[in-house]
Amino acid sequence: MVRFKRILLKLSGESLMGEQGYSIDVKRLNEYAVQIKEAADMGVQIGIVIGGGNIFRGLTGAGKGFDRVKGDQMGMCATVINSLALSSALGAIGQKNRVMTAIRMEPIGEFYNKWKAIEAMEQGEVVIFSAGTGSPYFTTDTGSSLRGIEIEADVMLKGTRVDGVYTADPEKDPTATKFHDITYNEVIARGLKVMDITATAMCMQNNLPIYVFNMDVVGNLRRVLSGEEIGTLVHTEK
Ligand code: UDP
Repeated sequence: MVRFKRILLKLSGESLMGEQGYSIDVKRLNEYAVQIKEAADMGVQIGIVIGGGNIFRGLTGAGKGFDRVKGDQMGMCATVINSLALSSALGAIGQKNRVMTAIRMEPIGEFYNKWKAIEAMEQGEVVIFSAGTGSPYFTTDTGSSLRGIEIEADVMLKGTRVDGVYTADPEKDPTATKFHDITYNEVIARGLKVMDITATAMCMQNNLPIYVFNMDVVGNLRRVLSGEEIGTLVHTEK
């Protein structure tokens, strides 16, 4: 039994650096591709948004004197680079997929269209949504909330390098404890850094649950889809 019929998988660009600490680690990239193919083979319809933080972040650029809008556009291009890498890795193991872009840039990717994306997913293709929302001042978290809601996903699976939502950053505070589940309101009230506030608010208003789990452990995507409770569910009030 599979827990979700259609998912929006959010992968962070930073995780893609793997152990090499910069750019794209091919080992991590291929591990992601294998996990995604495994999920597709389970019959799950998959949309993916991947960040660009391993290459460029607009806000960091602005801190170094870059124009914010141009910096964000560079960040969006970074997500396209990562999306093409993932697309290539998926193709290499025989998983049909396509890259859609929020900004027109054919033939690199097809211009985003909700209905074409759903049609492709229904036919077993993995659809990678790149260039975030297409607008500056947003993040790929917001991009994945938006796409998740648009494609009518059952859940946003947020693959991170930690295994869920904690009371504090577990990498900094050893006393931090993990939530099995938590409401969006509590995430906001406690100031927990699950996603930025804009993205969290969008999911809350449109009732898209988020499941946070550690995607860097091979096999975890399948475990989540099979119903194993290995992460944290963020949801509306009970
Ligand atoms: N970005 C943007 N609009 C969007 C999505 C992303 O301007 O809709 C830019 C922004 O500069 C961001 C960068 O792309 O810093 C990379 O995305 P993000 O930081 O979300 O990637 P992650 O941290 O998940 O790797």
